[in-house]
Amino acid sequence: MRSHYCGDLREEHIGQEITLAGWVHRRRDHGGVIFLDLRDREGLTQVVFDPDREESFALADSCRNEFVVEVKGLVRARPEGTTNSDMPTGAIEVLGKELIILNKAETPPFQLDEHQQVGEDVRLRHRYVDLRRPEIQEKLRFRSKVTHQVRAYLEDQGFLDIETPILTRATPEGARDYLVPSRTHEGSFFALPQSPQLFKQLLMVSGFDRYYQIAKCFRDEDLRADRQPEFTQIDIETSFLDEHEVMAITENMIRGLFKDQLNIDLGDFPHMPYSEAMLRFGSDKPDLRIPMELVDVADLVASVDFKVFAGPATDPKGRVAALKVPGGSELTRKQIDEYTKYVSIYGAKGLAWIKVNDLAAGAEGLQSPIVKFLGAEIALQIMERLEAKDGDLVFFGADKANIVNEALGALRIKVGEDLNMLEREWAPLWVVDFPMFEENSDGSMTALHHPFTAPSCSPEELIAQPEGKLSRAYDMVLNGCELGGGSVRIHDQEMQKAVFKVLGISDEEADEKFGFLLNALKFGAPPHAGLAFGLDRLIMLMTGSTSIREVIAFPKTQSAACPMTEAPGEVSAAQLRDLNIKLRKTP
Ligand code: ASP
Repeated sequence: MRSHYCGDLREEHIGQEITLAGWVHRRRDHGGVIFLDLRDREGLTQVVFDPDREESFALADSCRNEFVVEVKGLVRARPEGTTNSDMPTGAIEVLGKELIILNKAETPPFQLDEHQQVGEDVRLRHRYVDLRRPEIQEKLRFRSKVTHQVRAYLEDQGFLDIETPILTRATPEGARDYLVPSRTHEGSFFALPQSPQLFKQLLMVSGFDRYYQIAKCFRDEDLRADRQPEFTQIDIETSFLDEHEVMAITENMIRGLFKDQLNIDLGDFPHMPYSEAMLRFGSDKPDLRIPMELVDVADLVASVDFKVFAGPATDPKGRVAALKVPGGSELTRKQIDEYTKYVSIYGAKGLAWIKVNDLAAGAEGLQSPIVKFLGAEIALQIMERLEAKDGDLVFFGADKANIVNEALGALRIKVGEDLNMLEREWAPLWVVDFPMFEENSDGSMTALHHPFTAPSCSPEELIAQPEGKLSRAYDMVLNGCELGGGSVRIHDQEMQKAVFKVLGISDEEADEKFGFLLNALKFGAPPHAGLAFGLDRLIMLMTGSTSIREVIAFPKTQSAACPMTEAPGEVSAAQLRDLNIKLRKTP
């Protein structure tokens, strides 16, 4: 039907008779001449209809926004003074000779360039219209280029693309499962995979050696953050490679993507132990673009009269840390109050602060509600440790270590962004040496990564004292976002049993849930390791989008629904009967 895409026309096409097909982006009537801006996925072209071609002129006049048309015409230079250097096709226009209306369109639910005036709900309900917006088209096209490059890179490195089941059993990645009732096995359910984790490990046992898949994962989580119930991973598993080799191959892949798609050189990614990341940044995904760091001051305040500080300073699970904001004394009381409210989201009961007005005046030069409780000497010792200067502001966190880390870690990012402190545009790193387990409030243990991650000690050592043992897991972090994570896996049955034991999973339960994996480990499982990247998040970062919904063609809302298809939806009584399901009326 078409000879050229609208957006591809340039001066070199001047003089050519061409055929375009696309959507009427805008129709303008300029004193007897009709202009149609015609749009397709490559961009816009201006088509002009003169009244001397009566039939096509009348048709052009009858066109409305979003009509689908075919146009035959002549590419010509725009008259002097009417060129538009903001438009890639702005030097030319098409003199329309023939026009066919391929399909009419009702007035769209919103004009593409006025999408911000309607709520996201309206846009998602009419996502097929929303997706016509050039920005979104550009993002999805970019996404396609990235997955293409990922596939090419991995294939080149000997990886095989192998699909794994969607109807399966629970995979423990720490979220709730989406369940699918089985009709043929009454009362039984499939779980949608939270990731292909177990299957990719089994593929290694089968000898495939290098596997990848651009895989859909399903997690029924509370969508407080920017998450989607179904999302996409670049999932990778390898045999006979250790953590360093896996990190090297995948780092190279990400570096290549940034270089080829964005012409950005990420350089070599530094490695940082988890413990250092928590200590310096209060986070296991530190944003290294922000120069501020948390500094421990517990030893200095352990014996002050001020319980708010002394308590956590002497509690083995407590932490007292300071965050120096260079030049922060400019912050107003109101701004500090807002930050206090902000850290309360993370459980902080308050936010102590000291403004450094004039260090030469000693403690007199410190403005703060807490200096009188700390005492002049301690306050000045803290300033010395922080290398504080006049004009700085110091925030404090004193509580259980996890609360201090979360609160000051988040505050560091917030203040860093508010005060434009970002030192560079991109800051990748690997976080390594994670603890194997996390202790729950009831004293039980949870695997920090997942229970198939290899510890860096023997099974006996692990069982003797699981606390503080490290794992062979690694996370790739970019600008404070976890881009991907993985680990060396357990390939030895004894070790896998030891981990289940620490996690309080009985032999029977392990056998019931993961018997197939434990069995597979008996039949010649090679050492293996892998990781998975969050594709949506990667594309979001690379395209500078603010939400992953902008880089997914058909995303769900924050309440995990699709306003367009109205999924999830009710099903008929007959379907429920087939599945032997009876709905309980919720009160
Ligand atoms: N399956 C893990 C996840 O989804 C990634 C991995 O360990 O390879 O986070």
